Amino acid sequence: VESPYGGSPEDSGTRPEKIAKSDCDDNIGYFIKKKLRVWCWLPSGLWELGMIQSTSGDAALVSLSSGNVIKVHRVDLLPANPDVLEGVDDLIQLSYLNEPAVLYNLQCRYSQDMIYSKAGPVLIAINPFKDVQIYGKDSIRAYRQKLTDKPHVYAVADAAYDEMMTDDVNQSIIISGESGAGKTETAKVAMQYLAAIGSGSCGTEHANAILQTNCILEAFGNAKTSRNHNASRFSRVAQLENGERSYHVFYQLCAGAPSTLKERLNLKRASEYKYLNQSDCLEIDGVDDVRKFHTLVKALDVVQVCKEDQEHMFSLLAAVLWLGNISFQAIDNEKHVEVLADEAVTIASMLMGCSSQELILSLSTPEIRGAKDSIDTRLTLRQAIDARDALAKFIYVSLFDWLVEQINKSLAVLIYTSLLVMFAIRFVYLVMILRAIFQKNSFEQMCINYANERLQQHFNRHLFKLEQEECELDGVDWTKVDFQDNQECLNLFEKKPFGLLSVLDEESNFPKANDLTLANKFKQHLNANSCFKAEKGSTFSIRHHAGEVLYDTSGFLKKNRDKLPAVFVQLLSSCRCRLLQLFTSKELKQFQKPENDLYQIDALDPSKSGAGIDFKGQLFKLLHQLESSTPHFISCIKPNSKQLPGMYEVNLVLQQLKCCGVLEVVRISRSGYPTRMAHQEFAGRYGFLLLEDDLPRDPLSLSIAVLKRFSVLPEMYQIGYTKVFLRTGQIASLEDKRKKVL
Ligand code: ADP
Repeated sequence: VESPYGGSPEDSGTRPEKIAKSDCDDNIGYFIKKKLRVWCWLPSGLWELGMIQSTSGDAALVSLSSGNVIKVHRVDLLPANPDVLEGVDDLIQLSYLNEPAVLYNLQCRYSQDMIYSKAGPVLIAINPFKDVQIYGKDSIRAYRQKLTDKPHVYAVADAAYDEMMTDDVNQSIIISGESGAGKTETAKVAMQYLAAIGSGSCGTEHANAILQTNCILEAFGNAKTSRNHNASRFSRVAQLENGERSYHVFYQLCAGAPSTLKERLNLKRASEYKYLNQSDCLEIDGVDDVRKFHTLVKALDVVQVCKEDQEHMFSLLAAVLWLGNISFQAIDNEKHVEVLADEAVTIASMLMGCSSQELILSLSTPEIRGAKDSIDTRLTLRQAIDARDALAKFIYVSLFDWLVEQINKSLAVLIYTSLLVMFAIRFVYLVMILRAIFQKNSFEQMCINYANERLQQHFNRHLFKLEQEECELDGVDWTKVDFQDNQECLNLFEKKPFGLLSVLDEESNFPKANDLTLANKFKQHLNANSCFKAEKGSTFSIRHHAGEVLYDTSGFLKKNRDKLPAVFVQLLSSCRCRLLQLFTSKELKQFQKPENDLYQIDALDPSKSGAGIDFKGQLFKLLHQLESSTPHFISCIKPNSKQLPGMYEVNLVLQQLKCCGVLEVVRISRSGYPTRMAHQEFAGRYGFLLLEDDLPRDPLSLSIAVLKRFSVLPEMYQIGYTKVFLRTGQIASLEDKRKKVL
C-alpha cells in the first residue's frame, strides 16, 4: 500500500463512531503489540495502513505505509488483515471485518478490475464506468459448466436458474443501489446470461427476445438527466429541468415513425410539443432516435405485442403529447380559466377515442378531494394545468405498467420459466437519504424511504430471522446475533389508526387542513414511536434504519391527494381505445384484496385513499411476489460521484455498504450455517459414498457417518433434530466427491 487509501480531500469524512459496534470483536484495545499490522484513523479523516513499532500505555508508535511514523491512541487503531487475505473474493473470509478492512479489500479488487465480490449471500457489484473483459460467450460457458466460482452476476443468474429448474420455485433477483450505481446494466448482464443458457433448449431467437426487452424498458422507463444520459426515471412526463429530456420513446416516435403512422397520429416534430420543448434539449449526442425507433418496433414484435396494440400504444403516446399542448383562456377578469377548444383538444380526443366535448368537460370539472362542498365549478389556471398533467401522467404510467406486464408474460413463456427479474429502479436504495440528511425531504422521498424499509425487512427476514428461527427450532446452537429489526419504523408508517399514512389520509380528507396542521397531527399522534422526532414548524424527522432523515410536510397534502379524479376514470373507461378501458378497469380492480393476506391492502374504495396508501398497496403487491419466490440479492455500488473509471471514494462506498446492510450480512453470515439439508435428503444424497457393510438405517445416524467418513471438521457443521447445518463451502466439497463417484 503506497498511499493512504481514500479519494480526494473532499472525500474525507468524519469517523462515524470511535469504534463501530460491529467492530467489537476486532477491538484492538486488548492486544496492541509490536509488529501488528493496523489501520490508523488519521486526523485527515482517513484510515491508513501501518505497523506498530512500539507501545507505551494506551498509545502506539506506528510506521505508516506512507513512510511517516506517528503516535496513535489505541482507540484510533483497528487490526488489519494479513497480506495473504488481500483481495479475497468473499468478505466473509476476512479475519477482521472492520470497516477499513472491508473497504480496502473491495478497493484492492476494484483496482484490478475485479468489480464483483461477495458478502456471504449478497453479490456486491462496483460500477467500473468502463468496459471490463468479463462478459461474453466464453465467460457464460465457464459459469454454466461451473468451471469457475469467481463472484459474478452470471453466477447469481445461474444459481437462480438452477434453483428454479430443480425446485420449481419462482426466483427473484433484487438489484439495489443508488442512481448511476449500475442496476440497469447489472439486470442486462443477468438477462444476457439467462437468454444464453435458455437458448440451449429454446432456440436463439428466444435468447434474442429476452435481450430485446431491454430496449423497450429503456425507451419507456429512461430519460436523459444532466448527470446520467440514460437514467431510469418515473415522473417526468409533464415537467423537465434544463438539459433534461423526457422519456426516450417520445423523441424516438416523433423522429422515427413512418409517414403513414405520423399522419394517422397527427404527429409533429418533438420541438412542437410543450412537454418536450421546455428544457432546450431535444437530442442526445451520438444517439440516433430514428434508428432507436426501428429497434423498438422490432423488439415489440419479438416480445409479441401485436400490431394493433402497438398502434394503440403509439396513439396514446401521441395523445399524451397533444394533451400537453392543450391551453386555457382566462375568464372572470383572469381569475378563472376554461379549456381552449383548439387543434390540441381535437387531436388528443381523437387519439384517445372520445369526443372533444367529453374531454373538455372532464378537464373542466374541478374535483379536488376534500373540497366536495365547494360550489365553485370554475377552475383556476393552476388547477386546470394540474388536472391536464395528471391525466397525461396517468396514461403514460399505465402504458408503462402494461408493457412491463406484457414483457414479463412473454419472457415467462420464452424461457419456460417464471423467473422474475425485479428491477429495483423504483426503489432507489437508502443511500439517497443519507446524502440528503441535512436537507428537508419531501413526500416522494418519504415514500421511497418507506419502501426501502419494507424491502430491508424482507432482506432481514430472509437472511437472518428465518435462518435463526430455523436453527432454534431444530435445537441447533445459534450464537445469538442481534441485528437491527426495523419493525418499529414500519409501525410508524403503517399502524392503524394512528400511523403516519393513516394520519396523512385523515388530514387529506379534511378540507381546511394545511401543511402545518398536518405536522401538528403527526407530532400529536406519532410522538410515542421512538423512530419519530418532532422538529420545528412543519418539519419532523424519522429514524430510518440507515440514518435519521428530516422531512418537511410542505406539499404532503397536495401530493397525497394527487390521484386520478373519478371524472377521468369515467372518461377513460368510456373511450374507444381498448388499452384505456383496460387501464381504468385495473385502477378499480387492484384494490380487491385476497383473504388472509400477509400484506393487507387498506382501501377497497380507491376514491377514499390517498397516494401514500396507494403506494403502500403497490408495495405490498410487490412484496407478495417476492415472498413467494427465492430471492437473490445484488448490491450495486457507485465508487465515485463523477462517473469516472478507476476512482474509489472511500466514504461514498462506505455509506452505501452501510445502507444496504452489507456489513451486517458479512458479520452474521460468517457466524452462521448457511447451508442446511434434511437428514433424509443428506443421507440419500451422500450415504451411498460410504462403503462399509453395516451402515446405520436411520437418516440422522447415516448423516453423521457421512460427515465422519469425509472428516468434515466439527466446527463446520451441527446436527439438528431434522437437518444437518453446514458452514459455507462444505456442501461444495461433498458435491465434488459425489461427482467423482458418479
Ligand atoms: P442505474 O440503473 O443504477 O441508475 P446504470 O446501470 O444506468 O445505473 O449505470 C450507469 C452507467 O454506469 C452506465 O450507463 C454505464 O456507463 C456504467 N456501467 C454500469 N455498470 C457497468 C458495467 N458492469 N460495465 C461497464 N459500465 C457499467
